[in-house]
Amino acid sequence: MFNPLRFLWRVNNRFENWEEEDIKKYQSKQIDKLMKFAVKKSKYYSTFYSGYNLSDFSNLPFINKQLFMDNFTQLNTVGLTREECINHCLEKEQSRDFSEYYKGYLVGMSTGTSGNRGIEFVSKFEAFMMQLLVFFRFPFPKTRRINLAFILRVFSPGFGHNGRKIRITYVSPLDPMETIVEKLNVLNPNLLSGPPSVLQALARAKNEGSLKVSPILIISYGEVLSTNVKKIVETDFNCSVVEVYKSSESFIALPCKDGKLHINEDTTYVEVLDKNNEPVKPGEPGFVVVTDFIKRKTPIIRYKLNDLLTIDPEPCSCGSKFRVIKEVHGRADDIILGKKISSDELQFILPDYIRRSIISSSEHIEEYNAIQTSPENLIIKLQLAANIDNQVKKDIESTIQQGLANIFTKHNSEVPEIEFLYLNLKQDFDKKLRRIQRSFAEDFLN
Ligand SMILES: [Zn+2]
Repeated sequence: MFNPLRFLWRVNNRFENWEEEDIKKYQSKQIDKLMKFAVKKSKYYSTFYSGYNLSDFSNLPFINKQLFMDNFTQLNTVGLTREECINHCLEKEQSRDFSEYYKGYLVGMSTGTSGNRGIEFVSKFEAFMMQLLVFFRFPFPKTRRINLAFILRVFSPGFGHNGRKIRITYVSPLDPMETIVEKLNVLNPNLLSGPPSVLQALARAKNEGSLKVSPILIISYGEVLSTNVKKIVETDFNCSVVEVYKSSESFIALPCKDGKLHINEDTTYVEVLDKNNEPVKPGEPGFVVVTDFIKRKTPIIRYKLNDLLTIDPEPCSCGSKFRVIKEVHGRADDIILGKKISSDELQFILPDYIRRSIISSSEHIEEYNAIQTSPENLIIKLQLAANIDNQVKKDIESTIQQGLANIFTKHNSEVPEIEFLYLNLKQDFDKKLRRIQRSFAEDFLN
């Protein structure tokens, strides 16, 4: 019988007291159990792993969103078909009624930027476990009542709540900005959660005076939180911004009381790998591969996400041995690639370098996009403040050019041709805001 209080004790004990060795031992036990379950209950996994040695976990093949979606009918362990789940989600989205369960399960759909939709599927119990994990481990500020406004495009199963101590309300980022501001003013939340692009727009509204709320903590998720945006939001709201890192597949990481982002080592097994699928050292960027210990209805095993992140080599001041994510760099297929001078090989250039270089070049830049169209070409789109004369424009261009040339040279890479475009870059909240993009494919992920 599941006992929430016991779970609470365990969740905190593991986080606070476990040594690296305890974590590893626990994870390997969980992996063992999960593998036995998956090959027994999921037709897909039993075929997928045939011929592999199941105890040699780090040599098992990866799955990804494509494989997960294509094989959903065979993969899930409750006998639902992919078609019925998709139909249910489409109907639900039409009616915008996200409350109902489908055959006892919470079924949602995530939108990928490339348009390929993923099914998010959890049982009531799995959703409850994740809810408890968040409620128990998230460093909620000490306040009499949590009133959290959650700005979310699509319904994420199982997180709405209106209780005596905790109230969580959804606000759709698809509404016009004035409507969002109005709704927030009425809700008057003391916790505000949303993707950084929305938080930044809200910071502007706060600064201008139309947004009246004064949250005590802001939670960012869903997109890369750059240091620059973090600073803007923290300054305008005069409170801290912490990050949560979650994908449709797994609840990967939560912040601690010191504001660092810790992997939920006891519910998600995270591997950070290089392009040859070897583990990278802490401090180096790598691809994220997740294995989830909670989800049994749709087992998530060695699922390669389209994200690149770096683990912090330094231990956290809070004392927990759960690994800290130093930075989530964003979608791996958006990472800029430099062509090495000495060979034809391509290498990552982390987006934060590009971002910082553009932002720091002039205070007149209001919005920007950088799109790499080939290893030799980079387009920089800029939205400048009004009334900027041509000389200033030229200065901005040459400063950016210089900055980017330095970055590519430091990476021992050829400096690409840079083309500047001046546009009004309206923020599209419907999509993830991708300031740095790459429009040519490079098959690092497969
Ligand atoms: Zn910590």
